[in-house]
Amino acid sequence: MGVLTSTATCAALSAVVEPTGVRVRERVLAVRVGWLAGLVAGMAAAVVSGHWSSADLDILAGGVGPDGRALPVRGWTALRRLGWTAAAPGGVYVSDRVRRCAEEEAARALRLAVHRRQVVAAIVATWPEHGRRDEAGWRALRGLLPPGATTAEIVNRTRQVRAHAYAHGGALPRDLPDLEAAPAVAAQVLLAAADRQLATIARDGGDRAVLRVQLPLVEYPARRADWAWHTMAIALPPTVAAGAVLCAPTLRLARHRVRVDLPHRTAVVRAATSGHRVALGIDWGVNTLLTATVGRLTDTGRVVTDGRMLRYDATAISAKLHRLRGHREHLAAKRTHHTALAAGLPDTDPRTARLQALAEHADTEHERVCARIRHLNKALAWSAARWAVDQAVALHASAVYVEDLATLQARGRRKGNARLSGQVRGTVTDAIVHLAAKAGLAVVTVPARGTSRYCPRCGQGSTELTHLPAPDRPQQRGWKWAACARCRLSTDRDHAAAMRITARGLLAQHHVRTDRATGRHTTTRVVEGDVATARRPATGTRTRKQPVTRGPKTGPTPKRPPASKLSRRVPDRRTVPAPPCTGGQRPAGQEPKNHHPRVAASGPAHDFLKPQHHRTGFHHVHATPVICLPADFGPARHGHAPPGMSETHRQIQEV
Ligand SMILES: [Zn+2]
Repeated sequence: MGVLTSTATCAALSAVVEPTGVRVRERVLAVRVGWLAGLVAGMAAAVVSGHWSSADLDILAGGVGPDGRALPVRGWTALRRLGWTAAAPGGVYVSDRVRRCAEEEAARALRLAVHRRQVVAAIVATWPEHGRRDEAGWRALRGLLPPGATTAEIVNRTRQVRAHAYAHGGALPRDLPDLEAAPAVAAQVLLAAADRQLATIARDGGDRAVLRVQLPLVEYPARRADWAWHTMAIALPPTVAAGAVLCAPTLRLARHRVRVDLPHRTAVVRAATSGHRVALGIDWGVNTLLTATVGRLTDTGRVVTDGRMLRYDATAISAKLHRLRGHREHLAAKRTHHTALAAGLPDTDPRTARLQALAEHADTEHERVCARIRHLNKALAWSAARWAVDQAVALHASAVYVEDLATLQARGRRKGNARLSGQVRGTVTDAIVHLAAKAGLAVVTVPARGTSRYCPRCGQGSTELTHLPAPDRPQQRGWKWAACARCRLSTDRDHAAAMRITARGLLAQHHVRTDRATGRHTTTRVVEGDVATARRPATGTRTRKQPVTRGPKTGPTPKRPPASKLSRRVPDRRTVPAPPCTGGQRPAGQEPKNHHPRVAASGPAHDFLKPQHHRTGFHHVHATPVICLPADFGPARHGHAPPGMSETHRQIQEV
């Protein structure tokens, strides 16, 4: 068993002030929470700026207190050990618990700065003399980076260092405090650092909780009597399970409304990394975001797929994000332009004030567009992850295989104007890991190298595919379509890659390494095998169905050929691209009819998810509908290995 921590954002709409029993409305409550958050942020900012120096960051990075003992993990206790305590502004009374919250906030900001500083130090130490980094330079840089440093961080910090060097005549920064001012502290109250004397949280029935917090009654409380207990009833969202344990929340304001970020812990069954029979393999597309396919490992060691391409197509959202990014750059340029013009004028000039106002306006708009991009990225990533996990559950898969983002980025391919940022993909991976843990599925990353380059159906990963713009333009070089000259496979490029990923995951189940710190699973070895396509067995439901009688019958209904005479092979060569799966429309008021008789008889494995009806939350996302299908397609169990598949079989035996 493992423990999964999630955070649900709830709203506090009113509160009862405890000694008097007076109910205060949301607006008053928001003002009081704002006062507390302001006090905490002010105290935390004072601690951060007071210790924003190389010497103090060295002490924190060293991790050893003045008494020679290792610093505690909890932020506020570590700062108290170092003597870096928060102090209330003059004339203001705050309890020790409020100071703790401020110290926790400061400790988190400073610890983040220590990490950022290591990244900057690594970049400066390996700064290329002339121009770009070569292969050896990159290797040296990766050797120096702290664990967990992402590519986005490297890119952003490199830009920062380059800007500093440009402004200082080529001189590189010596340390992080040279490069940037003390970071701003978020206006929030981390109640996790306090105890029962500042805040308590308890369940009140199945879907409600009661949060009690001491809030100031005035902006600058001068004595203890200026603080009072506020009791807030909070409605829990349905994502908080009935058995989840509530933890101390974080209070903040969002557009003058009180938001309660409520962490809660749920016990989950940890999925094994091996022994999987049915799995979902996912490929990252340029704009489509996700292309997946289901694969089954037969007893003979073959990987079979059912030929369905599952696709989460976010092209429209990707274009929207591209437009927003362009708008953001435009506003940033405008802001810089107005600021530069205002700086060139004397203060007495009447145009200065106007230019400053314009720069301020551009800055506000810039912030708004940034927030919009962040929100859209996050919503898209979680929607896609939800879809992927629902597909896996509906297809009875027990594992999800995704491409390793590290090897994907190192390859440096898939660039384009309207591409989705790597950050979205990182969030999708995190979200898939989180949602899959809830559903009891294992998520394993497999090496991405060569997944769309080689044929998934023949040659054990050695036959190169030809890439075309479309299946009816075989003479042209393209991107979208893949064709194999040897086995005549002709399919969507991402679908071919998804098949290869499924095979790599299913065949290398005994070469999975689990990171101890993050709990992430990674396949360490590439085991190639071919993927065959097989239809699901006919169920006979149509033959059992009574023919619908319309008007006078003129003759017997022609019989369909018996199911056994149909070929079970799916045509591997398509002459035109398959039409996009838009999901279709169900008549109003009708329940989705996806109950496969076999699935219904055996009982759905994950009934709580109800994956039949899927909504992405976006108007312009085209996602393959989630349909419950049996997982027993392909050759029957204990069947004989067909010719040509012995190679794969032998590899499995070795494993
Ligand atoms: Zn082939």
